[in-house]
Amino acid sequence: MKDLTITATIGVYQLNELNTADQELLQAAIEATNRSYAPYSKFSVGAAALLANGIVITGTNQENAAYPSGLCAERTTLFYANSQYPDQAVVTLAIAARTEADFITVPIPPCGACRQVILETEKRYNCPIRILLYGKECIYEVKGIGDLLPLSFDASAMQ
Ligand SMILES: [Zn+2]
Repeated sequence: MKDLTITATIGVYQLNELNTADQELLQAAIEATNRSYAPYSKFSVGAAALLANGIVITGTNQENAAYPSGLCAERTTLFYANSQYPDQAVVTLAIAARTEADFITVPIPPCGACRQVILETEKRYNCPIRILLYGKECIYEVKGIGDLLPLSFDASAMQ
């Protein structure tokens, strides 16, 4: 028996350490939280996707009284981006979240289902997606979904 060790490197930044484009994308995700539909959790999530053609698509979590019928901000955003611009890779995805009181202190990570969809989007366009996770105290930069979803399942496993 031997161990398989998997490591991930996450960049930790202050907002002012990021370049203007990254700050603007995070700001788009922050502003998107205002368009969230979260009457049940009161947890508003916004996402902003920068496409290869420079267009920014935003989305929010959309809840439902039948809870499983709702959808996270990340998947709302990626599905909308892929529907509107099916020939454009997603280059960077920024995510922000707040409660009714304020934005969360630590960076918000995507849930498992969203990680799987981010993976599919990377594979679809053969392009890693940088992920910027906003928190009031710092921002995490993830260089690709492999760092958040190791030992992932994709189409190559079915061959
Ligand atoms: Zn999710």
